[in-house]
Amino acid sequence: MTQRRVGVLAIQGDFEAHAAALVRIGAEPVRVLHEKDLDGLEALVLPGGESTTISKGLARLALYEPLRAFALSGRPVLGTCAGAILLAREVENHPVRSLGLVDVVAVRNAYGTQVDSFAAPVDPGAGAGLEGLRCVFIRAPRLRDPGPGVEVLARVDGAPVLVREGNRLAATFHPELADDPRVHRLLLAGD
Ligand code: GLN
Repeated sequence: MTQRRVGVLAIQGDFEAHAAALVRIGAEPVRVLHEKDLDGLEALVLPGGESTTISKGLARLALYEPLRAFALSGRPVLGTCAGAILLAREVENHPVRSLGLVDVVAVRNAYGTQVDSFAAPVDPGAGAGLEGLRCVFIRAPRLRDPGPGVEVLARVDGAPVLVREGNRLAATFHPELADDPRVHRLLLAGD
């Protein structure tokens, strides 16, 4: 059986932990830094990190349009934390240029400086088999005003933390840091 090749954007941030999570579900992680790296990939992860730095890298490497084209071709894309910010239609609180691939507003660092990082379980009633998922948040954004095409799969304290629009998933937390493969499996579940 050939392994499923899944790209992880490697400009800055959490490449290694996502790569390890992908290996755990039997996929082959591929480092993405150039447009040609997208060739032959089944799916793509935009990791957490610093969305300001990552967005500058996307501009420098001329990756905005290739990443948009990749997602619009129907292949699954998962953005986590800074990656979710980059997927949003609009970014608030020190805006960065985003890809506009998920119809939601991302508010950066919305939990404030008092609460830098924390872990919390999803509220009861999470969809897509995600009941009981524990989420690790690190200087996390909040997502608000999801458009009509956006499905909220999981919430924490009532706020959306995992949303899906077609083949795009945006998580405000770090599924790669929890020993739970469900979010990465969800990325590859659609086909
Ligand atoms: N605070 C970061 C940002 O706004 C995101 C943090 C993360 O990805 N863990 O870009």
